[in-house]
Parts: sequence; structure tokens; C-alpha cells
Amino acid sequence: MAGSGSASVAGMAKTVFRDVVVVGGGFAGVAVAQRLARKGIEVLVIDKNNYHQFKPLNYQVATAQLGVSEVARPLREIFQRHASAHVAVAEVTAIDAAAKTVTLADGTVVTSRVLVLALGAEANFFNTPGAEEHTFPMYTIADAKRLSAKMIHELDRVDSPAGMKEPLGLVVIGGGPTGVELAGAVAENLRTVVAATYEGEIAKGTTVRLVDRGTALLNPFSAKTHAYAKTQLERMGVQVQLGAGVAEITEDGVTLDDGSKIRAEIVVWAGGLKGSNLLADSGLTVGRGGRVDVAANLAVPGFEGVYVLGDAANIPDGKGGSLPQLGSVAQQSGNCAAHNIHSDLTGGTRKPFSYLDKGIMAMVGRGAAVAEIGPKRRQIEGPAAFLAWLVVHVALLSGTTQKIGAVGSWIVDYGSRQRSRRSLR
Ligand SMILES: Cc1cc2nc3c(=O)[nH]c(=O)nc-3n(C[C@H](O)[C@H](O)[C@H](O)COP(=O)(O)OP(=O)(O)OC[C@H]3O[C@@H](n4cnc5c(N)ncnc54)[C@H](O)[C@@H]3O)c2cc1C
Repeated sequence: MAGSGSASVAGMAKTVFRDVVVVGGGFAGVAVAQRLARKGIEVLVIDKNNYHQFKPLNYQVATAQLGVSEVARPLREIFQRHASAHVAVAEVTAIDAAAKTVTLADGTVVTSRVLVLALGAEANFFNTPGAEEHTFPMYTIADAKRLSAKMIHELDRVDSPAGMKEPLGLVVIGGGPTGVELAGAVAENLRTVVAATYEGEIAKGTTVRLVDRGTALLNPFSAKTHAYAKTQLERMGVQVQLGAGVAEITEDGVTLDDGSKIRAEIVVWAGGLKGSNLLADSGLTVGRGGRVDVAANLAVPGFEGVYVLGDAANIPDGKGGSLPQLGSVAQQSGNCAAHNIHSDLTGGTRKPFSYLDKGIMAMVGRGAAVAEIGPKRRQIEGPAAFLAWLVVHVALLSGTTQKIGAVGSWIVDYGSRQRSRRSLR
């Protein structure tokens, strides 16, 4: 291995060299770096946050069900036992794929023999007027904390001497798993924690509405699951409005394509994701969703030593399409890329990525989840799926402390309906 080195000239940015540079410490980045480090390969993981975040539980942070320390784990802790893995907490501001370099916010240029881009994805507002300025996206822990603080602020505002208990409106845009899970959790919060701890009229006067341009909720699931999710959400008090495109968002609500207006203090954006602009500016060709089209072995054709993984990539599904943006796809793509990078560095043979599809699941509310298991999509719903969801998510969480913390919080939450520890702004 060439190891690492650095050089700088007075007045110029510092340049450092690392064998393998991984941008992004999410599911894909951690998986590839851990596997490479186990093989003794020097690898540098760069992330703008000092933690790995478990995004599927972000909505529970937003609704104060779980704390940040239960869904995030310090990257340095994850890699502490891997002598050849190093972590840099820094924002990557530019990528040059041909040169295999990345530039950090402080101007440092990191150059590599193998560059792995695992930056995830970011909110896609589809050029909807006002969306970027007036909505709360729901894709990162920071987003979840911001939304949590806003909800508590609005509840406290209306439950004050001057607030007059005026009704509150919350609109969730997007009926995919993120929107459905959040809308369900907020509705449940109103019925339980808010009803118990705020003046009675507050919970009753707050409306939760879920709007989506499409004709079904939870699109990746089957028609039976679409119907189940809608029925359950409505039972919990969520107003579901399908076939409703959003024309504009202003500071006082949402205007739909048909001209109707929904007044709302809080608008949550769960309307879709796209690849980071850094990818489009890196010299790589981006395809559907602003993601990079990769070969079956996850390398980028025409760019020797550049891999793109997880949500940042369009990974061929072997049937002419791409695999979905899922944690399991990201993690497995990281494992496969580690094999191929090791092969590149040691003269071995790359292998194509083969996704092991264990199924998909989503939480609608307490005792009401949906799961479609395995590639044949065997369906379960209700309490059995709810229990399966809890077990699977504990198993997938990174870190023993996080797993124990989450189980403890769920026991307290589902048993006593207490969340006061996290309802602090
Ligand atoms: C709200 C929500 C719910 C979800 N629920 C599920 C679910 O139930 N099941 C499921 O399988 N999948 C779910 N997903 C999808 C899953 O979380 C993603 O597919 C997965 O996180 C993708 O992993 P990744 O490693 O590609 O990217 P990420 O996990 O997004 O990691 C990307 C990393 O890159 C870092 N980064 C980005 N830009 C920069 C930069 N410029 N400089 C430095 N670092 C940078 C980020 O900080 C982040 O740590 C959900 C996603 C969301 C947002």
C-alpha cells in the first residue's frame, strides 16, 4: 500500500494523499470502510457530521419518541477498533472524479487512489415555488430536530395566555414511507402525549393532513397495503388527500393545483430525494434523480478507481431498471464495493453486485405496521408487522448503547405514553 502523505506550499491549500477515500459515513460508507479496514487497507471516511445517522428512525426523533443519541452513533466510535480506518469530520465542497480528489470546506484537497462517493441524497423540491423556504424537509437528524422544535414551539404558542387555543394545521407533502410514518406518528402524538400534557382543546384543534400527487400511499408496496395504510391513518385522524399536486407553499400554508388552499403553520416536505449537486459538478454524468449510473460492479464506467454507492447511485437491478434507495441496498452495495476495491488493489477480480432483497416495511402507527417479506413480498400487517418492525429496527441500529436506549424508550413510550424527556426545545 502506498500509505498517506501530505504537501503544502505557503499560501496554498494543503494537499494530502490517502489510498482509499470514502465520502459519506452513512449506510454505504460505513459498510465499505469497515470491510476494507478489516482487510488492513488504509481508508479515510469523510463526513460533514461526526456521527452516522440511522435515517429510518428520524421521524421518531421529530416526534420526540427517540432521542438523537439513540439513532446516531459517533463515527470515531464505529471505527475505533479499526487501526487502518480514519475519520475526518469535514464538509466536501467539490469533487473532481477524473483526478480522484475532493476539496474540503477549509480548502484542503484530498487525493486518492480509489475514491468512493457515498454522499446519500438530499431533498428534491421539484422546483415547487416556496418549498425550499417554507417547508421542513424530513431527511436528516438536523431536519428532525428542527421539525421537533417547531412543533413544540407552535403547541406552546397556542397553549399560552395570548395564544387563545387557536387551531393548528400541519401538512405533510408526500405519501411514501417517510410521509406516512411521520403523519402517523404526529397524529398519535396528538392523541396521547399532547392530549395528556396540553390543554384539552389543543390536541382536538390540531389537524394533520397528508397530500400526495399520486393515487396511493406507500407506492412501493402492494395495493392491499396502500389501502391498509390509508384506512389506518384516517382512523388515527389524519386527513389523506390523494391526487393532489402542490402548486405553491407560502408562510401560511399550501396551495394545491386546483387552486384550493390549506392553511398550515407547519408544512413538512417528504416529497422526494435527488442526488447531491456535487455529483453533477464532479465531471461524472448523472442520470435519473441526479444520481450517478454505475456498472454492475458499482464502479463508474470510464473513471478508473471511482465507485458510487447507495442513494448517490443508480445501481442496475438486472431487469433494466435501478434498485430502490434503501438502507439495505446501500449497506450491501458497500460490502460488495469493498470486495471490488480490495481486488483492484491486490490484482483480484471484481464481482457484480447482487442484491439480497429481504423485503420492505413501514410503520403506520402503534400496533399498525406493514411488511412485505422477501422478494416474493409475503404480506403481514397490524400487530405482527408492528412487532417485526421493532425487532428489525433494533437489529439494524448501529451500536449496543443505541439499541438498548431505543428499546428502553419504546417500552416507556408505548407503556406509559411519556415523552417529556425529549420534549425540551
Ligand atoms: C426519513 C427516511 C426514512 C427512511 N426509511 C427507510 C426504511 O424504513 N428502510 C430502508 O431500507 N431505508 C429507509 N430510508 C432510506 C435509507 O435511509 C437510505 O437509503 C440510506 O440512508 C442510504 O444510505 P447512504 O449511505 O447512501 O446515504 P446516507 O445514509 O444518507 O449517508 C450519506 C452521508 O453522507 C454525508 N454527506 C453528504 N454530503 C456530504 C458532504 N458534502 N460532505 C461530507 N459528508 C457528506 C452525510 O452527512 C451522511 O452521513 C429512509 C430514508 C429517510 C430519509
